[in-house]
Amino acid sequence: ATPAALVAGTGAAAKAGILVRDIEALERAARVDAVIFDKTGTLTAGRPALVATEALDGDGTRLLALAAAVERGSEHPLAHAVVEAAEGQGLVIPKARDIHADPGEGVVGEVDGDRVAVGSVRLLERQGAHTAPVEQPFARQAAQGRTVVAVSEGKRAKGVLAFADAPRPGAAEAVRRLSDRGVRVIMLTGDSAEAAAPIARSIGVSEVIAGARPADKLAMVQRLRGEGRHVAMVGDGVNDAPALAAADIGVAMGGGADVALETAGLALLRPDPLLAPAALDLARRTVATIR
Ligand code: ADP
Ligand code: MG
Repeated sequence: ATPAALVAGTGAAAKAGILVRDIEALERAARVDAVIFDKTGTLTAGRPALVATEALDGDGTRLLALAAAVERGSEHPLAHAVVEAAEGQGLVIPKARDIHADPGEGVVGEVDGDRVAVGSVRLLERQGAHTAPVEQPFARQAAQGRTVVAVSEGKRAKGVLAFADAPRPGAAEAVRRLSDRGVRVIMLTGDSAEAAAPIARSIGVSEVIAGARPADKLAMVQRLRGEGRHVAMVGDGVNDAPALAAADIGVAMGGGADVALETAGLALLRPDPLLAPAALDLARRTVATIR
């Protein structure tokens, strides 16, 4: 028989916008003493807006059109921002072939016979591009707390695009509530340290791990668990699915609940960071009642 407290607990959870996979998930959530948050789309709105374009050859229009051509093949929030900006300016976006997204790095495609890469400097380097010319504009934009991506065409670096993404309402309060309960809070992001720092500061997170690829996110979860921590990983599932699956309890925020519950034990039906502490509280209360 299902304990009455679990039924009551999960009923309240569903009403609050929290889906629980099973009782094991609830029990693991009750023991959590470290919460890792993905940044983009989880602590921030995940709707970055393009705020600056720096073209090395002065042709910002061509830079944006080129980037939009390959970003059309990506589901990433940055990709939507690029395409939206290009369309908003009424640009003619060239056709791209062979588009390949590299999670946590960017996207590559072929435009007019050249490989075009949009993403991290690391990604451009892997495409054999000479990245030295974009280092200064990249650093200049990142120093303003912006997310920056570089663009290359063949071996030539073309310039950088910079984006701003606001913290979600409730992010700071969620961090405070968790900290008040003695939970260690960590921000984990594929973004640069410079872009992550101002956001972390504004929402009160002191521990930030930046430049993390999906595999690094996974390793971080495993390391904390190895240190004896009970880890919750909160992410949007865009490129943190392995980390969600490896955590003591994966918490998938927003998106399709069915898919989310396959890798995560908890799904938050609204993209509201406050549901994270609410879910942990609820788990603790419910488990305490059962015992
Ligand atoms: P987070 O870990 O904060 O959710 P992501 O891992 O989604 O961030 O992205 C990290 C970095 O990967 C971005 O800052 C960007 O440099 C690069 N990136 C990923 N996807 C794309 C894309 N479609 N276009 C451009 N850059 C991308
Ligand atoms: Mg993300």
